[in-house]
Parts: sequence; structure tokens; C-alpha cells
Amino acid sequence: MSYIDEVKARLEQKNPNEPLYHQAMGEILNSLRLAIDKHEDEYRKTKLLERLLEPERSISFRVTWVDDNGEVQVNRGYRIQFNSALGPYKGGLRFHPSVNRSMLNFLALEQTFKNALTGQAIGGAKGGSDFDPKGKSDGEIMRFCQSFMTELYRHIGPNTDVPAGDIGVGGREIGFLYGQYKRLTNTVDGTLSGKGLAYGGSEVRTEATGYGLVYIAQEALEKIGKTFRGATVVVSGSGNVATYAVEKAQHLGANVVTVSDSSGYVYDPNGIDVAVLKQVKEVERARISVYAERVPTAVYYPGEKVWGVQCDIALPCAIQNELELDDAKKLVQNGVIGVFEGANMPTTREATAYLQKNGVVFIPGKASNAGGVAVSALEMGQNASRKHRSFEDVDAELKEIMHTIYTEISQAAMDYNVPGNFVVGANIAGFRKVIKAMREEGYV
Ligand code: GLU
Repeated sequence: MSYIDEVKARLEQKNPNEPLYHQAMGEILNSLRLAIDKHEDEYRKTKLLERLLEPERSISFRVTWVDDNGEVQVNRGYRIQFNSALGPYKGGLRFHPSVNRSMLNFLALEQTFKNALTGQAIGGAKGGSDFDPKGKSDGEIMRFCQSFMTELYRHIGPNTDVPAGDIGVGGREIGFLYGQYKRLTNTVDGTLSGKGLAYGGSEVRTEATGYGLVYIAQEALEKIGKTFRGATVVVSGSGNVATYAVEKAQHLGANVVTVSDSSGYVYDPNGIDVAVLKQVKEVERARISVYAERVPTAVYYPGEKVWGVQCDIALPCAIQNELELDDAKKLVQNGVIGVFEGANMPTTREATAYLQKNGVVFIPGKASNAGGVAVSALEMGQNASRKHRSFEDVDAELKEIMHTIYTEISQAAMDYNVPGNFVVGANIAGFRKVIKAMREEGYV
């Protein structure tokens, strides 16, 4: 058996009931075959893959809080500090009832590769809780965040681990978490990124994931003589990533016709009205169906996904495994030219293979959604130097970072004779950086 298959089998056995982690690991290992086979003996001897795929530290903790009815609630909190070879652990917190160890191991592994691709000195981590923020009052959210941080604070710090947002964790939650962190540590050191602009946040952090996604997609499209201008774009999701992907695609002249949430999607042939979208989702925290109630040209399709809508470009920005093989078939049938992932692993492996086989330009999330964490690292830099950078300055650097990522993943794919395969390119380019540091740091 090859070293890769051996490691994969052993880790699947060691982490039973972790399908998402197996999926993420499988996708990465499969891409790395070419890079690893050449060095199989050395890597086997130094247990490189075993070390890479075993999180450095996993923390799980009880989070007790009291709801508005005076009832005691107990949730489980996590922080997976996956890899610190390149710098302090860095990655978001996800609050969603589906959160478990498998999901966070997958996300933390992806984050390790993604953070390497940004070119910044940040390691990989992820955390969160099975707490469901949906329908909770501001007071409940605050009490939950304070209780969560009461345990987490001892494990994090500006040079140790810098958490941020993810699904269910936005500006409001980061504020509550950071407030409690400061109260417990008596330090104002910037730990946590995605902070409000009033207390150490960076310009462009809110927009960064969505904008970065569109920047890298535009570059990939230009290479094949296409552009966002005049294109019909389908976006899934309606959270932070989706909202700013819609905004930037529109800046570039696209007609973005859909957004969605877990209960259905909205189709607006006139183009999504971003002001209404922000009002509904960011201010009112309402369901996406409310958008269709406000905008006369929009139609709401309950219980359906966006992938059957005719489009040139698809941007999956909702959640893992939302784009399956049947969806990929519909997209190809409708003539899609590019699929660029805004979410983490939104496309299943079968769907990815189908898209690639049919000549669709496909960039995986670990490269295409790296703009968010990249600007988080710029936020860390601004906090350390106590300097505030302008919107234009940070936006220009974000664009440059996405350009560098595109160049590196294209080059890595070319190095292994699979030009245009950005899945292999991203995995190999990220892997090279992480293992170089791991080798130089010794057997730790
Ligand atoms: N949760 C985001 C991601 O998946 C951002 C992480 C961060 O800014 O640290 O990359």
C-alpha cells in the first residue's frame, strides 16, 4: 500500500464517525499523491503526514448560560488548534447546531492550507459551538458569548491563537467575545479579528471574503477571455460571504440573480438589490423570503437550491456539500463556465470531478475564499503596530494577495502537469509551505 493510502486508512480508523474530516483529508491526500510519491521514503520515515493530519491541540469545553426564560442551557464549545508551523493559530468560530469535532477538524485542516496560501505568517485553527444563534435575543447571544469566552480566553492570545468569525459569528458576536476577553485578561491586544472599526477592526474585513472571491474569479476568467461584465451569476447563501460577493460582482458589471438560505432561494432577474439584502439579513436578521416580500421583481422558491438557474458563473457561498453531483450536472447543462467557492468545501468531490471533467474553471475555497483570513492577518498587523490603514490601501493589498494566490496555484498545477487543475494546485502550494516550516522546526 502506498504511504498515502496507509495514512488515510489509519486516520479514518482513528477518527471514526468523522465523515467531513475524512472527506477533506481524502481530497487533500488525493491531490498530494504526485508531490508525496517522489519523497515517499523520507516522509514515511519522519511521519510527516501523520504529524500534519493530527491536530496539535483539540480543546472541548462546557458552555453554560441562562436563556431569557431563566432556563439553564448547556452547549459544547471547541477550539481545534491544528497547525502552528507558519504562525499563531488562526481561524474562525462557527456557531451552528450541526457543529461537531468532525466538522471542525475538516475546517481547521482546510484553514491550515488556506492560511499558508495567503503568504502570511498564520497557522490554522477552527472552533465554535453547537449553539444555535437563530431566534436568540441580543441578551442571550451576549451571555452565551461571555460564557464561551470564559473558558476560551486561557487558550488564545495575539501570539498564540487569534479566532474570528464564521457561520453564526459576525460583528455582534465578535464584539461580545472580545469584550469578555478583555475583561478576563485585562489586556487590549487585538486577539480576535473581525472587530468593529471603533475598537481595532480593519477596513475591508467585512467585505474581504466576498471581494477576494470575485477578484480571483475575475483573474481566472480573464485568462480564458471571459469576464464578470455582462455575465449572469448565481450566488448561494446570504451571509457575509454571499452579500459581498454579490456586491463586488455587481461592481464589475455582472447580473447576480440569486441568493439563498437554508429554507429556499430568491430569484431576482433584475439583479439582487444589495441594500435590501443587507437590511433583511444584517439589520433585521430575517429569512431570505423577506427579500422577495420587499422586492416586486423577486420570486421566492421554498425548499429549493439555486443550481438549476441558468448562469455563466456560480459562486457557492453557503455551506459545505451544498453543491452535489446532480447540481453540477444542471450547471454544466446550462452552460456554466466557472464555479468559484466562497464557502469552505461547498462542492462535493463527485461534483468537483464532474465540473472539472466538463471544462468548467473551478477554484476551491481554500484558495478562493482566503481573502477573509488574509485581511484578518492585516488586522493583526494593524493592531500590533497601532496603525489604521485606509479602505483603499487594504483593498489594494487584498487584490494583490488574491493575485499571488492565483499565480501560485496555477504554477503548482503546472509543475505537476495538471494545468488548470486548481484543486491540485491549491493543495500542493499550501502543502509545500506548511511542510517546509515543519521540516525546519524539527519533529514537533
Ligand atoms: N472563517 C473564515 C474562514 O473560513 C475567516 C477566518 C479568519 O478570519 O480567521 O477563512
